[in-house]
Amino acid sequence: MKLLEERIRRDGVVREGNILKVDSFLNHQMDIPLFCELGREFQKRFATENITKILTIEASGIGLACIVAQYFKVPVVFAKKSKTKNIAGDVFTSRVESFTHGRVYDIIVSKQFLGPEDRVLLIDDFLANGKALEGLAALVENAGATLVGAGVAIEKGFQIGGDLIRKRGIHLESLAIVESMDPATGEITFRPDN
Ligand code: 5GP
Repeated sequence: MKLLEERIRRDGVVREGNILKVDSFLNHQMDIPLFCELGREFQKRFATENITKILTIEASGIGLACIVAQYFKVPVVFAKKSKTKNIAGDVFTSRVESFTHGRVYDIIVSKQFLGPEDRVLLIDDFLANGKALEGLAALVENAGATLVGAGVAIEKGFQIGGDLIRKRGIHLESLAIVESMDPATGEITFRPDN
């Protein structure tokens, strides 16, 4: 999606360790008119899927998921990162290894908010090694719900996540796929025709 690629080129900052900082419009300050365009685009790409729920993960996916949900007119559920080992109550759980924080945590969703009748779209800001989406997909599976697909704003195409998710047969739509990024020059290239 050209609009997003241009914004990443203009305002994205490439950091050592394969990190792309987009704090000025996506991850910290949020550009809502831009989010609306992303929401419209996801709605187009998943228009025929009869989605009943959007599932994301706290914290940075929530803002985008909420705006996207307006176009599908469905609720957003966010998986909570659980701090306690003994998870009490009626929840679905899975594990996620964090790319940015380098640790493993449990994620939980209440059984009240996800069930076999749901057709779920996963939404997240970034796709790197695919752990966040895999953890969310496991929650959907545990709930007996149907996983319709996954939409991410930015996929880092040089990391394995996109391949992993597509190989699992999950319909993945990434609005910008970064092919390469150079911390020395700040240059960012994108996969064409996306
Ligand atoms: P994955 O689980 O696919 O390895 O990583 C996805 C999660 O890590 C996203 O939810 C995002 O918050 C974070 N993340 C991964 N790579 C980057 C990056 O380059 N920049 C930022 N800002 N977040 C990232």
